[in-house]
Amino acid sequence: MVCTSVSCLWTIFCLHLCFYVNTGIAQNTREVILLDSKAQQTELEWISSPPSGWEEISGLDENYTPIRTYQVCQVMEPNQNNWLRTNWIEKGDAQRIFVELKFTLRDCNSLPGVVGSCKETFNLYYQETDVEVGRNIRESQYVKIDTIAADESFTQGDLGERKMKLNTEVRIIGPLSRRGFYLAFQDVGACIALVSVKVYYKKCWSIIENLATFPDTVTGSEFSSLVEVEGMCVNDAEEEADNSPKMHCSAEGEWLVPIGKCICKAGFHQKGDACEPCGRGFYKSSSQDLQCSRCPAHSYNDREGSWRCDCEDGYYRALSDPASVACTRPPSAPQNLLYNINHTTVSLEWTPPADTGGRNDVTYRIICRRCTWEPEECFPCGSNVGFSPQQSGLTDTYVTITDLLAHANYTFEVEAVNGVSDLSRTQRLFAAVSIATSQAAPSQVSEVIKERVQQHSVQLSWQEPEQPNGVITEYEIKYYEKDQKDRIYSTVKSKSTSATVNNLKPSTAYVFQIRAFTAAGYGTFGPRLEVTTKEESTGSATVISSEQNPVIIIAVVAVAGTIILVFMVFGFIIGRRHCGYSKADQEGDEELYFQCTKTYIDPETYEDPNRAVHQFAKELDASCIKIERVIGAGEFGEVCSGRLKLPGKRDVSVAIKTLKVGYTEKQRRDFLCEASIMGQFDHPNVVHLEGVVTRGKPVMIVIEYMENGSLDAFLRKHDGQFTVIQLVGMLRGIAAGMRYLSDMGYVHRDLAARNILVNSNLVCKVSDFGLSRVIDDDPEAVYTTTGGKIPVRWTAMEAIQYRKFTSASDVWSYGIVMWEVMSYGERPYWDMSNQDVIKAIEEGYRLPAPMDCPPGLHQLMLDCWQKDRADRPKFDQIVGILDKMIRNPNTLKTPMGTCTRPISPLLDQNTPDFTSFRLVSEWLQAIKMERYADNFTAAGYSSLESVARMTIEDVMSLGISLVGHQKKIMSSIQTMRAQMLHLHGTGIQV
Ligand code: AMP
Repeated sequence: MVCTSVSCLWTIFCLHLCFYVNTGIAQNTREVILLDSKAQQTELEWISSPPSGWEEISGLDENYTPIRTYQVCQVMEPNQNNWLRTNWIEKGDAQRIFVELKFTLRDCNSLPGVVGSCKETFNLYYQETDVEVGRNIRESQYVKIDTIAADESFTQGDLGERKMKLNTEVRIIGPLSRRGFYLAFQDVGACIALVSVKVYYKKCWSIIENLATFPDTVTGSEFSSLVEVEGMCVNDAEEEADNSPKMHCSAEGEWLVPIGKCICKAGFHQKGDACEPCGRGFYKSSSQDLQCSRCPAHSYNDREGSWRCDCEDGYYRALSDPASVACTRPPSAPQNLLYNINHTTVSLEWTPPADTGGRNDVTYRIICRRCTWEPEECFPCGSNVGFSPQQSGLTDTYVTITDLLAHANYTFEVEAVNGVSDLSRTQRLFAAVSIATSQAAPSQVSEVIKERVQQHSVQLSWQEPEQPNGVITEYEIKYYEKDQKDRIYSTVKSKSTSATVNNLKPSTAYVFQIRAFTAAGYGTFGPRLEVTTKEESTGSATVISSEQNPVIIIAVVAVAGTIILVFMVFGFIIGRRHCGYSKADQEGDEELYFQCTKTYIDPETYEDPNRAVHQFAKELDASCIKIERVIGAGEFGEVCSGRLKLPGKRDVSVAIKTLKVGYTEKQRRDFLCEASIMGQFDHPNVVHLEGVVTRGKPVMIVIEYMENGSLDAFLRKHDGQFTVIQLVGMLRGIAAGMRYLSDMGYVHRDLAARNILVNSNLVCKVSDFGLSRVIDDDPEAVYTTTGGKIPVRWTAMEAIQYRKFTSASDVWSYGIVMWEVMSYGERPYWDMSNQDVIKAIEEGYRLPAPMDCPPGLHQLMLDCWQKDRADRPKFDQIVGILDKMIRNPNTLKTPMGTCTRPISPLLDQNTPDFTSFRLVSEWLQAIKMERYADNFTAAGYSSLESVARMTIEDVMSLGISLVGHQKKIMSSIQTMRAQMLHLHGTGIQV
């Protein structure tokens, strides 16, 4: 540079320059600098046009760092137009550009000798372009930003020297639309030093506010514009619900108006601008919580950042439990469980558990199971049982359970439960009781239908009550005239589920109610049924009123007799039924009813035994049968239990008799013969045949399942556990089954307790049907001199002697079954040999009464064992006698400690007179128990008087372990006592 006179002046100006440049303006952190001339130490190389105009000059700042400036001072010449253009400036994100100029400008007056062309301003321009353009400056393409003037050009210093003042001017351009731009400075004749040019735009720099990160944001294009920015939550934080974080970036690059926020997630808490995990042993369950908390009681965690604490072993948290509460456990069992039985209703009462598990939501639930006797299996009670107030969710410590079955074994578990009981996998704790219900009267007869209404009679029919609770022996029909004031009742009894009530008035409204009777007594009467009899007909009687006209009765009987005759002749061919009149006498009420009974057909009469099977037994599809387990062994193969599910019916438990593989045709025929017989029977005390499978293998006979198996084993297992009424109830059932069979003309030949099956309700059913093979199959059967095998101990004399098997010989066997039942499965005639038994029977010896056997029952046994079969009672009479006993339980009472067995002529024929013996050994010999003579002597029983005082415990203490022998001896002692009483008229104190 050549220093002209003006230039020299300029040098002074230059010397001052550095002083002002470095006044140290703090860098504004919101600015993004696009151009800063000061920062460049090499030449700027801006375009100057004309080249003689603006000059690039180097200077130093206060740190002696070189800076680049441009100067122009063509004040002496008129018409100046000197352009200086920057390099191309790429604008980046900027919309609003700030241009900061620092310059000095000399006032024209201070310049010696300047003419009027001297100026004190310059012009600032810009040109937008997308790319760099050439070095030529086309003035017309520039847009003027402003005319820039100095605030002051020189100021007077304190010492009178002239100081140059550095001017700073900022201009804003925008919004810009192209990628970049040029700035241009137009000098029109001033003396200017352009000390620095800074071009920048403003940004709001990334910050974290309320746990949200806001990114770098370029300000808006307008001075007033606010740019809304969404924040991003920092790690492990989440937006607060409906309150997402936002901020606004102002034109000045400042963040304004924060809205919403982020919060630390569950398991994390805030530390400064970050979220940190909760430490071990601490948790934070929700983002809403501010702080981590220590794990509550019985819980722990061993990891950082937990939102909850895990429960210790054996402790749980219910779903509804907040994380902040202690873990808890199921309660202990309820205490002091007490019960009270009233027939078929059981009340339970208990006290709360000792440990509630740490909770206060303890309730109780009752688990009811009904258990079979043998095998002992328990099943849920089902929905028929009632619980008051309810079965579960009980808050009080008592419950009443109703509608249980009579004579059934139940187990009740009372469990205390709380909110975590269902989560616990530990063993349930409960208090339990096992209860056997006693007998209960039958439930109501709820549905009564009027079958026929006449002038003087009404015929009704009804369904058996839903819960018979035993075998229904009869129904009582109560009726009265509806409009009669004093309501005098009449009753009629019926053995079946229908009855005709006679002797009614015509055109009269009657009300009928029915109740059922079992060993447990009468049930309650069912709902009232109103029936109005027909009007009296004026013409000749068309309806026979048998009850009013004895002549008509005879006529009816005559007609009926004819019908019977016809049936008897053709019965076999047409209906295989035989019909007859029965006169039922029930406590004074006489009822004449017409009974029809099917006749049993011997399957052997069929030429094709297969036809017989399919005539009487339903062919079942094997796929309906599910075999579950083996329960016994029959002659032809295994006996299994299982389920039968017929289409459209509920599945039922069944016993399945199978025919083993490799059978002969005869075996198959014999096997299916039982089904052909059983299939003809339909009675509640005869085992029911479900069907057969003959068209597949194995060949099967499917029978109703009898849970308690055969009666003899069942009684032996439950020795002494039943009441006399229960035992008589069983006997009554067997007798009813036998009455039905004998009515059908079927002779069983092998009636014995082992051939009676017992179901879970203690209902006994006659089973084991067949022809000769039944006997062959029976291990008790032995060959007799008359040929064929016979179960001697159960068989009547005439059947042993000349094979005369009749219903009367079945009655004999029934008497033996009675003895088996009353002695809980004792073997008849104990261990006497078959030969001795035959001999003893022939000589008139009969089994003595079992222990505690009511005399009336033993008498009935003796009657069954009458030598002359015509003297034996019929099954129908036996049922009647047993029914009377059940209705009058007093007749079944046995005096305590004695057997009041009467001195029966039948028995006494051969019962030794024990009072005639002097020695204990003599007595033992007489009853064939001499093997125990030493036992008696050793225990000091030397006289018969001392023996007569013995109790069963005394007998057992002698070391006599065989139950049969104990009973035999005890029975003889009781007889001896009775004989002494008879002889001396004095009682023996026991
Ligand atoms: P059986 O061939 O009839 O003598 O039967 C053999 C064994 O199977 C019997 O002693 C019973 O224990 C058992 N049994 C037979 N039928 C049934 C049934 N219907 N229900 C339960 N068990 C049965």
